[in-house]
Amino acid sequence: MLLTLTTTHHPATDLGHLLVKHPDRVQSFDLPTGAAHVFYPEADEARCTAALLVEVDPLKLGGGRGRRQSSAPEGFTLGQYVNDRPYAASSLLSSALAKVFRSALRGESRDRPELAATAIPLTVRVPVLRCRGGADLAVRVFAPLGWTVTATPIPLDEAYPEWGDSRYVDLTLSGTLRLADALNHLYVLLPVLDDAKHYWVAPDEVDKLLRAGSGWLAGHPERALIIRRYLAHRRALAGAALARLTALRPDDEPPTDDSVDPAADGAGTTAAHRAPLAVLRREAVLTALRDSGARRVLDLGCGGGALLTALVADRRFTEVVGVDVADRSLALAARRLRLDRLPERQRERIRLRQSALTYRDDRLRGYDAAVLMEVVEHLDPPRLPALQDAVFGHARPGTVVVTTPNVEYNVRYEGLGPGRFRHADHRFEWTRAEFAAWVERVAATHGYTATITGVGDADPEVGTPTQMAVLTRDDRNEETDR
Ligand code: SAH
Repeated sequence: MLLTLTTTHHPATDLGHLLVKHPDRVQSFDLPTGAAHVFYPEADEARCTAALLVEVDPLKLGGGRGRRQSSAPEGFTLGQYVNDRPYAASSLLSSALAKVFRSALRGESRDRPELAATAIPLTVRVPVLRCRGGADLAVRVFAPLGWTVTATPIPLDEAYPEWGDSRYVDLTLSGTLRLADALNHLYVLLPVLDDAKHYWVAPDEVDKLLRAGSGWLAGHPERALIIRRYLAHRRALAGAALARLTALRPDDEPPTDDSVDPAADGAGTTAAHRAPLAVLRREAVLTALRDSGARRVLDLGCGGGALLTALVADRRFTEVVGVDVADRSLALAARRLRLDRLPERQRERIRLRQSALTYRDDRLRGYDAAVLMEVVEHLDPPRLPALQDAVFGHARPGTVVVTTPNVEYNVRYEGLGPGRFRHADHRFEWTRAEFAAWVERVAATHGYTATITGVGDADPEVGTPTQMAVLTRDDRNEETDR
């Protein structure tokens, strides 16, 4: 597998400083799957080319150690030994890139910091790139990032043109970009084009993707495809990634896949804020949980598990428990989390429990935090005190995050008639004053301190569409004060 990187920036040999690889030497690096070599086929002031050659050891790749093998469905398949991996560019090239050019990928340079921050003329060539979806797809993913793309399909056999093209293209990209941007594009998009099947994608791949995609992925017209393929078609992870990405960019088009559950949100999306409210809400809840420092978390009334999926994707949450009274919801959540397919170590972090929140349940005691996202309004008002007692009095998590609709905002939803609620199963919807009064009463009764905020666009008259409260148990406040 070979990738070359050429610049005509003057003096071109500065490329050696940016990559932290001296143009006069061949340097080699060990990889889990073989070895990488960096060398310079040409290096003068006018033009300098660095080459990254990845040698793959098919035995290490197929029979290898570690988690890749441990989660393989069977110990041996011929395909692991007889395949095109050693010769074609792929995700292995991408991981080699990350290892060998680590500081350049981050945009850091000790010797040439200004140059690292400057767009310079670059040409990238990958002479043999496995490209599922053909040469067109290579253009669709690279061209929006400012590259001029030449992707030439490689014929299956030059002697027999009638056999047609192989799955490979000869790819050349040229443009004027920061080196770090170029490397991050390659790091993400080479495996996306390859689209090889992996057995196992770690949840921290979402973080890696969002880091590498920072500044360009959110606005990319093919971002849904990029995310899906990069995360090896793990829909739970792709949903979490897309949700995080779109929540960071409220002006974006709403995602079109299943990361948003419209049923859970009733009339929750308006033209005024195009990032779906469900996504903003989930992100606000996640932020509150992260800020609280919680590691073991309950999602009370978890429904179909949209929040659970995002919680599981963040490894700081060491235990994630979804609780719901409805077995249909729990079945949906199990399916969405792909519980049956998760490796043991991940599976152990997640629990789904059937429980009614209006009854004390010892299994829910001792957690750092609990979420009641869009749940209280599903209870008949006379049952609310029972929920308060079970959650705040008995389970007593350190932090409780509550969200609920702001009924005052309903006038802003076209098509929601006066006096109608946002969802057929809502038993009530509170004004801001009613919610604040409830929160204050619960906090005073059970020894919590509350902060009330909102989620979604704040309307000067009627406030935000969603109301949110974060309640912190008072003995925890004292702990953090000390
Ligand atoms: N939190 C999820 C789902 C909200 S819908 C989200 O924001 O997407 C409300 C959920 O609360 C439903 O799944 C419903 O089954 C559950 N629920 C309602 N009353 C409950 C009760 N008394 N005990 C436990 N779960 C309850």
